[in-house]
Amino acid sequence: MNLKLVHDAVDAYKAKASESDAARLSFFEGLFTIQQERADELCAAQDYRGLSIEDAEASYIALEPLLEKAPVEIDETSFFGTCNKIADYLAENAGLEDSVRVALQEIDWYKFVGKLDLALAGSKPPEFIEESLKGFDSFDISPEAPVSIVMMVVAFALRCHIQPAAEKLFGQVSKKIAASPQREHPLCCPICGSPATASQVDIASGIDGRSRKQYCSMCGTIWPFERMRCGVCGTENASRLHYFHVDGDSSHRLQNCDECGQYQRMVFEEDLSIPLCMEVEDVVMARLDAVALDPRFRAE
Ligand SMILES: [Zn+2]
Ligand SMILES: [Zn+2]
Repeated sequence: MNLKLVHDAVDAYKAKASESDAARLSFFEGLFTIQQERADELCAAQDYRGLSIEDAEASYIALEPLLEKAPVEIDETSFFGTCNKIADYLAENAGLEDSVRVALQEIDWYKFVGKLDLALAGSKPPEFIEESLKGFDSFDISPEAPVSIVMMVVAFALRCHIQPAAEKLFGQVSKKIAASPQREHPLCCPICGSPATASQVDIASGIDGRSRKQYCSMCGTIWPFERMRCGVCGTENASRLHYFHVDGDSSHRLQNCDECGQYQRMVFEEDLSIPLCMEVEDVVMARLDAVALDPRFRAE
């Protein structure tokens, strides 16, 4: 991620945020900084080659996540180091209850990481998270440490390890192929296979008008996507898609889909007075999740 952009976006949001929102933004700004610094360290140490341009483009067009073809080797000791760092940061800065904070600090991360399937983490991240959740009871974690927080540490750590590879792989697919695949754009992340976290609609450029992209928070990839399409199930039936926004803020909208009953959070750059940074937007748009559950924002 681009830390300068993160800082600029956070500063701009904080200038008009409530105290609690500002604290939340500061927390994530610190987390992103740790993640990026760790990703840079790992990138320097890794000799990751990715795929040939031919293979990368063929997989992209075939909608096969590229990381499965060229997995990242995640070293146990190094992943332990990342988890430890992130857990410490969460314990000190996430405003957790005392019992949770202590439980988080008492986890033997080395032992815990030894039980994770890191080969799966480096090739199929969403499956890795799912499998880890399924096996969580066998990990000997104190019941005081909630699964959600522990797995948050794991997911935040994983991004540091796969982001450099994701950047390399996405760079091996030419812009031309990514912008105009032969059939359709990937619905899930073309690199790691995770569902999109959120969507961005860029300011109009050239004759193509506004272009839409999907953002994956698992690996950081941002890829082109159809403007009128459900980001969850992929339907292109525009009459089944509805858009809502909270009063006074047209830059953040929900795309609701009648076909699958799900929604996606979208940010519209032209209505945004703040530099567009998807990591920060993901934090800011968390409030849209609450809106999405409000029956007034669901089309019948
Ligand atoms: Zn991804
Ligand atoms: Zn849908």
